Amino acid sequence: MKYTAETVEKADREMENRRNRSEQELFVRRSEVFRKYPDAKALDDRIASASREFIRIMTIRDRDERQRQLDALQRDNLAQQQLLREFLTACGYEEDYLEPRYVCPLCRDTGTRNGRTCACYTELLRQIAYRELCEASPLDLCSFEDFDLGYYPDDDGQGGMSSRAIMKSIYDYCRMYAEDFSRESPNLLMYGGTGLGKTHLSLSVAGEIIGRGFGVIYDSCPNMVKKLTDEQFGRGCEGTEESLLGCDLLIIDDLGAEFSTQVTVPALYNIINTRLLRRMPTIISTNLDMKGIQNTYTERIASRIIGEYTLLKFAGRDIRQIRK
Ligand SMILES: [Zn+2]
Repeated sequence: MKYTAETVEKADREMENRRNRSEQELFVRRSEVFRKYPDAKALDDRIASASREFIRIMTIRDRDERQRQLDALQRDNLAQQQLLREFLTACGYEEDYLEPRYVCPLCRDTGTRNGRTCACYTELLRQIAYRELCEASPLDLCSFEDFDLGYYPDDDGQGGMSSRAIMKSIYDYCRMYAEDFSRESPNLLMYGGTGLGKTHLSLSVAGEIIGRGFGVIYDSCPNMVKKLTDEQFGRGCEGTEESLLGCDLLIIDDLGAEFSTQVTVPALYNIINTRLLRRMPTIISTNLDMKGIQNTYTERIASRIIGEYTLLKFAGRDIRQIRK
């Protein structure tokens, strides 16, 4: 699973905030208790002095004597800690009131445990990636539950399937796709006019898949192409191409809306083609129809997209217009 450098940076910052917060809160609790109970302060000082005592003992040359004093120190220290806990309980506090409280006691909010990434950190990355995704989307509702088939007419079938029936089958397909998603899942091309719910459905797929622990990158095509070319010319943050090629699922929203040049087209082709070669799934949504794709892109890109993607043709009328 791969996350963007930005996501990782945010996660690291959050871990640091958690550690700082627990330190500050501990400071406040200690000040409070020590002000009210000087005896607790004396106990705490004695416990803290053990580290100085430890250093002194370690300089003792005689091995047996050193060990004897170390054992005594440990016994004494444990007894003092026990006394402090009892003291706190007697004063009506919880016994661990003067110990740091971590969001994740397993890794003490460091994010690593025995040299490995702690589960809390993985979970945090997932949450941040999901939040970023929803912030970047034009919709704040992006789940399958919020997708309303009622906006699609059910009387425009003219002997064939109505828009609602078509969209119901696309909706069902996307739900299944998200539920069964693996790195072997097919590529999808969602196409059709504006306001037919392509972004909503692709975000719903993304949300579901991120929730299952896959690394998903979602970006609009203009944004993505800009980042890629910025990177190419050394203007942007590094790692864009690498994350676009490495994520479990890449969702390119609004293909065709980008400003296409001799630089952007090959950059885009490289992403689409490399993912095909590596057999890593990509979802593309576009307002272009097949003819539009052929006219906008080179033969190579158009045939790759049309030939290697499962085509989902959206139907209906512009939902944004209907809502107005
Ligand atoms: Zn942890």
